[in-house]
Amino acid sequence: MPAPLPLTSADPDPSFAELIAARPHLSAHAMDGLLVEEVPLARIAREVGTPTWVYSAGALRRRARALQAALSGAGLHASIHYAVKANTSLAVLRVLAEEGLGADVVSEGEMLAARAAGIAAADIVFSGVGKTEAELRRALAEGIGQINLESAEEAATLSALAAGMGRTARVALRVNPDVDARTHAKITTGKSENKFGVVLDDAPALYRRLTELPGLEPVGVAVHIGSQITSGMAAYRGAYAKLADLVRALLADGLPVRHIDCGGGLGIPYRDEPAPLPEALAGAIAATLGPLGLPVMLEPGRWIAGPPGLLLASVVLQKQGRDRRFLVLDAAMNDLVRPAMYDAWHGILPVGGADLVAPVSPADVVGPVCETGDTFARGRALPSLQSGALVALLDAGAYGAVMSSTYNMRPLAAEVMVEGNRFAVIRERQAAEALLAGQRLPAWLGGGGS
Ligand SMILES: *Cc1c(COP(=O)(O)O)cnc(C)c1O
Repeated sequence: MPAPLPLTSADPDPSFAELIAARPHLSAHAMDGLLVEEVPLARIAREVGTPTWVYSAGALRRRARALQAALSGAGLHASIHYAVKANTSLAVLRVLAEEGLGADVVSEGEMLAARAAGIAAADIVFSGVGKTEAELRRALAEGIGQINLESAEEAATLSALAAGMGRTARVALRVNPDVDARTHAKITTGKSENKFGVVLDDAPALYRRLTELPGLEPVGVAVHIGSQITSGMAAYRGAYAKLADLVRALLADGLPVRHIDCGGGLGIPYRDEPAPLPEALAGAIAATLGPLGLPVMLEPGRWIAGPPGLLLASVVLQKQGRDRRFLVLDAAMNDLVRPAMYDAWHGILPVGGADLVAPVSPADVVGPVCETGDTFARGRALPSLQSGALVALLDAGAYGAVMSSTYNMRPLAAEVMVEGNRFAVIRERQAAEALLAGQRLPAWLGGGGS
């Protein structure tokens, strides 16, 4: 559909047509331009404004079902606990709850969100390396299904709290398998130098200790080796093989192991990089942990929520530098931080029907924030876009809105869910005035108030 890209790079970016074809919830029409499911993005921009996050409920459902099918196809008795931190929107959580997913949470706030979206306490796993006593107490009071312990110290704290409350906490022990997930250094979590989990060699003694501590009922073991894992299944297989050995040793010692938590981390293709399919992950689990015959749990975040979301933005202006063209958007690094934080590549599509087929040339796509790091893309093949034209930054459903800040006093963007030909605002755009709420002037500065 678009003109051939005038790029000389040996590895040119995917074309607009290729980006759309790889994302079944997107389509392009000559008149309506880019659509999410059956809703033109131009209509959302008109009614809700920009920047706005847009999530396809259909894509969320399709991905949840594909993962479930892959796991059962591999003969696994598996449950999926969606990692809430990837996208905490109540509407997203409700869609996934409707698809039968539980939740993996890492804070009191995420626990509240999962419960508010209708996910039963029993279907929630509480993970995290530094849960506070207040959070643990709340989890006990709620009757959370499983608390993943990451240290002997945390086990002692939880035991004392649970015993004091007359409760029994179902706990799993998260081990650090010391494998390299070969992903970005900031999101690898399964190497021995990372803060997560307990040392594998210490796990058998600690697991036995869990059976002795009052208020604790050990139910299994857990790993999570990192995020955006696209390097094939070697790291997963390595971690799961170590976990299988551990479980065999625990069972041989007569210790109770009821299920195995396999963590998350399955990567997605942001550009056109090869990324493993859920069938590959299911196969790696079946090959290593399958022979134990125990139920397994999975904690995917990005794989479920990433591709269904995009960030819809307007072009503020197009300006010509000495040797490059800049497209300045009304979205910025405070909205979508992944390019600034991880050098992440996100597909960028024009939204207008004519813009999708207009001739392209390289442009730097930037936000208005006062940092050079506020750059979404460099030298990206895009048409000439005038003030007010719309663009979509793709695959922004995971680690997008949840990582937003109000840096530069920019209000949080609105969020919209699309399903079929309907759409709804699922989070209002923050008002600029709301940024001042809660602030006070000390009395000694005099005056105060307005
Ligand atoms: C972040 C996290 C996940 C989800 O990771 P993804 O890469 O989004 O799949 C799962 N489990 C734990 C413990 C996590 O911290």
